[in-house]
Amino acid sequence: MLQIQENVSLKKFNTFGIDANARYFAEISHEDELVELFADPQWLTTNRLVMGGGSNMLLVKDFEGLIIRMNIRGIEHRISQNDVYVEVGGGEVWNDLVNFCVDRNYAGMENLSLIPGSVGASPIQNIGAYGVELKDVFASCRAFEIATGTFRTFTKEDCKFGYRESVFKIELAGQYIIVSVKFHLSLKANINLKYGAIEQELANRGITEPTIEDVSKVVSHIRVSKLPDPSTIGNAGSFFKNPVIGDEQFRIIQQQFPDVVNYPAGEGLHKLAAGWLIEQCGWKGKVVGNTGTWKNQALVLVNHGGATGEEVYSLSSQIIDTVYTKFGVTLQREVNIIG
Ligand SMILES: Cc1cc2nc3c(=O)[nH]c(=O)nc-3n(C[C@H](O)[C@H](O)[C@H](O)COP(=O)(O)OP(=O)(O)OC[C@H]3O[C@@H](n4cnc5c(N)ncnc54)[C@H](O)[C@@H]3O)c2cc1C
Repeated sequence: MLQIQENVSLKKFNTFGIDANARYFAEISHEDELVELFADPQWLTTNRLVMGGGSNMLLVKDFEGLIIRMNIRGIEHRISQNDVYVEVGGGEVWNDLVNFCVDRNYAGMENLSLIPGSVGASPIQNIGAYGVELKDVFASCRAFEIATGTFRTFTKEDCKFGYRESVFKIELAGQYIIVSVKFHLSLKANINLKYGAIEQELANRGITEPTIEDVSKVVSHIRVSKLPDPSTIGNAGSFFKNPVIGDEQFRIIQQQFPDVVNYPAGEGLHKLAAGWLIEQCGWKGKVVGNTGTWKNQALVLVNHGGATGEEVYSLSSQIIDTVYTKFGVTLQREVNIIG
């Protein structure tokens, strides 16, 4: 029987460690519980928030509605010649899935090692790291439509994946709850070393013919050295997206700042490194009250202990303002602002 708890602290459910309360809280361990939950019409009209690992959200204040925490478990896998299909409950921990696949030599996810959060949230912003995005291994997902109480399968095309974007963040925001995701992996490794840092670290280790396990270990090592561990210092990873700008604006910025860090982003487009822009404004490692930016990566905002969501939000606004003043570029928050 589904339990709805009241006045629950969300501190341990969000990686920023923000101490905000939820008015109502339901943990979902089976998809039937979603049907049961929404059979009660009061929840259709209540403000709602679906939560996985809480690693991509900033709770600005108490949540005066219903938190639906996804905890549907289970990993099923099937091999057909060189193809591997893995179907996974939305509440599984993303990195447990990566380890499950790497241990069995199922190739494709190794560059996405150690990203925090749940499997069910992975399509929401098309998670990505080190030259690979979720869409590269995604086959389909199964989702519950709140308004109709029915389930629907989304193909890759249906999801309209983009850079940290999907249909679930835009047209269909708040309408579906992802209950499981199906991945298409391979028994044949196609090692992706697009990011120089991986190649460099493999060379440091004397590895010339890397396995997917080597890549996974190296990616994990690089991440640990650059990013703060949320279990010791609250954060939600990159707070802002890397801005994508057109040729003309890029040329103006490059004239003034010849060493601007950038990557090609398609015809006539340039992706700027948001961390570099923020660092140039003097924010790297800065402490502001209980919050600040991470000493090794200015793109990550941190909770030094006891920060409120409002404090972190206010810092992010100050950063947006200073980056705009210096470069004329408006940073967009990657982290979901709740409240
Ligand atoms: C240290 C650190 C490093 C990170 N590095 C990366 C990185 O390299 N690349 C990257 O892409 N991200 C990164 N992130 C962000 C985060 O890990 C991902 O966005 C992750 O997918 C969030 O998963 P979650 O379960 O914690 O989602 P939550 O924070 O719980 O939710 C995020 C959003 O998804 C929605 N949501 C969650 N689950 C579901 C569901 N089942 N159905 C429908 N909606 C849902 C929520 O309502 C919310 O809007 C990092 C975060 C941290 C803390």
